[in-house]
Amino acid sequence: MTTLHSALVSVYDEVVERNPGEPEFQQAVAEVFESLAPVVDKHPEYADGAIVQRLVEPERQIIFRVPWVDDAGGVRLNRGFRVQFNSTLGPYKGGLRFHPSVNLSIIKFLGFEQTFKNALTGMPIGGGKGGADFDPKGKSDAEVMRFCQSYMTELSRHIGEYTDVPAGDIGVGGRELGYLFGQYKRLTNRYESGVLTGKGIGWGGSLVRTEATGYGTVFFVDEMLRRHGETLEGKRIIVSGSGNVARYAIEKAHQLGATVVACSDSGGYVVDEAGIDLELLTEIKERRRGRVADYAAEKGGAVRHIVGGQIWDVPCAIALPCATQNELDERGAAALIRTGVRIVAEGANMPTTPGGIAALRAGGVLFAPGKAVNAGGVATSALEMQQNASRDSWSFDYTEERLADIMRGIHDRVLETADTYGVPDDYVAGANIAGVTQVADAMLALGVI
Ligand code: GLU
Repeated sequence: MTTLHSALVSVYDEVVERNPGEPEFQQAVAEVFESLAPVVDKHPEYADGAIVQRLVEPERQIIFRVPWVDDAGGVRLNRGFRVQFNSTLGPYKGGLRFHPSVNLSIIKFLGFEQTFKNALTGMPIGGGKGGADFDPKGKSDAEVMRFCQSYMTELSRHIGEYTDVPAGDIGVGGRELGYLFGQYKRLTNRYESGVLTGKGIGWGGSLVRTEATGYGTVFFVDEMLRRHGETLEGKRIIVSGSGNVARYAIEKAHQLGATVVACSDSGGYVVDEAGIDLELLTEIKERRRGRVADYAAEKGGAVRHIVGGQIWDVPCAIALPCATQNELDERGAAALIRTGVRIVAEGANMPTTPGGIAALRAGGVLFAPGKAVNAGGVATSALEMQQNASRDSWSFDYTEERLADIMRGIHDRVLETADTYGVPDDYVAGANIAGVTQVADAMLALGVI
């Protein structure tokens, strides 16, 4: 970790002491704190209001038992979470992650990031995150439904259109949100559309929400390039992951004239010099719930599947980590630099390790952090909430234009903030400072709560 402003050292030490065994949460806090030196100097009122101390303490943390019955009749057990991090700007807002790696540290880091990401969108949404250590992989639809129903039976006590509005994340997509919404509706006897986002189009969802995180990521990169008088046309890109974010990043990159030559999953990566065939990838991942290895097997010919290894060895001009936290480390960064990468923009949440970020920046790579780059997903969730509140539904083109506009706005605001605080062109500092100051100013206005 680089050195912190002296006023933040004891606050950070306290975070480590009060949140033991939570490395991801500590890492997310450290990353934000490293950007705050100019903020501390410029805003003595934050210290007086113990703003930073309050920002790192979630407003509420809920951990609960989730029992469910598998297809063989056996009783199974998982642990559920919802961390309601900060409601200064609006109802808690953030996704649910179902993955075996989920624990309190993961959910707290995600909720902390979400708070500033949501602030950056300029929409009236606070920050929260939830999930469970449930693995949907290999489960039948009926098992997923019973799990979701049990999970929502507890979660329903804590959420609501004006309180907390969950959505999807890793392992939670249209299928899971359907079961979750159905159970909420049944338990409450209310058709409260605005309680969840990412809903299906036929039952209160918004067009473009499914595509939004991936599309928004590419819109952000497009802005980065335009600032240097360039476009995506002809650019060679690699995208890690093959889930929702990765697939729609690939789609938009191709629409804008780039070629995405590689994507991955936890088993390895595929290289397709002709450009990833999105239709086939979606068929395999979404409908067959298969692996990228199946993509290579099906395509044959020149398409390679590399078991294990790191996708960062594939030469590219732009790399978009869109899989999961800490997937791009110093070794990955070194490989990217060696083959001439120019831009790394995070489609996932905290996919680059602190060492990876430092290496990329030292290597002269333009680096943009997830809380700015991937904010299009949650921003479109806020657009879904707007449509639900007004009982309206917007066209695809109109909604996509709103998303593109929001991404341009975030990009410009990040760079303007970086300029104002004396760290020009620093996307990391600009995003952290813009997010933190917006929440902090509102917290001061609302008093000691
Ligand atoms: N899970 C997404 C994120 O990391 C979306 C959250 C939402 O739409 O509420 O931002």
